[in-house]
Amino acid sequence: MAENKRDYYEVLGLQKGASDDEIKKAFRKMAMKYHPDKNPGDKKAEEQFKQVNEAYSVLSDPEKKSKYDRFGHAGVDPNAGFGGAGGGFGGFGAGGFEDIFDMFGGMFGGGGSRQRRRNGPIKGNDLQKAMTITFEEAAFGTKKEIQINKYVECETCSGTGAQPGTSKKTCGKCGGTGEVHTTQRTPFGTFQSSSPCPDCGGTGQINEHPCGDCGGTGKVRKSVTISVDIPAGVDNDSVISIKGQGEPGSNGGPNGDLYVVLTVRPHKLFERKGQDLWLEIPITFDQAALGDDITVPTLEGKVSYKVPAGTQPNTVFRLKGKGVKSVRSSRKGDLYVRVILEVPTKLSGKQKKAIQNMAKEVKNDCYKRKSGFLDSMKEFFS
Ligand SMILES: [Zn+2]
Ligand SMILES: [Zn+2]
Repeated sequence: MAENKRDYYEVLGLQKGASDDEIKKAFRKMAMKYHPDKNPGDKKAEEQFKQVNEAYSVLSDPEKKSKYDRFGHAGVDPNAGFGGAGGGFGGFGAGGFEDIFDMFGGMFGGGGSRQRRRNGPIKGNDLQKAMTITFEEAAFGTKKEIQINKYVECETCSGTGAQPGTSKKTCGKCGGTGEVHTTQRTPFGTFQSSSPCPDCGGTGQINEHPCGDCGGTGKVRKSVTISVDIPAGVDNDSVISIKGQGEPGSNGGPNGDLYVVLTVRPHKLFERKGQDLWLEIPITFDQAALGDDITVPTLEGKVSYKVPAGTQPNTVFRLKGKGVKSVRSSRKGDLYVRVILEVPTKLSGKQKKAIQNMAKEVKNDCYKRKSGFLDSMKEFFS
């Protein structure tokens, strides 16, 4: 029997001494070519497929390969009884075939096919859409409409893909499961593999009268207007998720979701840090020295704030609760006001005179920091 067998390298289209990589590649190529799913009812292909599997089972195993290289088929043929019980063809364990299964899983894209039915419900694609809103819209919330181009359920066939008044019929080949099982009997045992049903493409159903509007897919592309509720307190890069507004699912699966990613335009006055707002207000020397009621803008309108006499530059005042509301609670942030002292420029002669007069009156001892500095400097140089 062994004498009639073809050379394993020849079966894989290789020369003797081919590398492990070449063997693997050749096996994949040959197994694809002769796979029963690709050659239904072809006895010759089936026989080739068996031979390819057998050749690979030997050449992919270093120990068997080395025996085969030295002794030919006799070295690995179980019937030859070579090397006693422990030697020769040392029992083709499940491991070898698992390797083959894994490869098929990869080739037919059905890694999980043995666990999952091919025609089970599949959730539709999620969609993402960018949206720009104003600072105030982010702070107070708003309702917006967006236009998106997406797949929706075909109205003509209600998403079934079949012409109205017709229905799909259960695939006769796979009985509606969407998969076909192939049993391989090889000299080493029997193994089963499953692959998508070729008649129904794995859907389990045959669409004899496809809907003309969607071509049988049950989905059509359409521009849709969607209303988006933007809650108060959202910030730059906040994401609003709208359940079910993605693309339609398949086989009764749920719709995908829509994710709206927000960009908030900067404000001319306010800078936002979380829920707090920051604002800079320029004040003049006389306001800082004598104190003044200043007008402070807030998101809710103007408020009056009393700057106390002797306010130093860059002093920060906090207006509690004048910040932005939290998205999750009713808690509000604060408004921080930094006062900037502005020094006048472009002075007329008369204005300069007025300041000089003031300077004559307001002596060094009116300035706490300046007099302290002068004392320290005196000390340093003495
Ligand atoms: Zn349709
Ligand atoms: Zn089928």
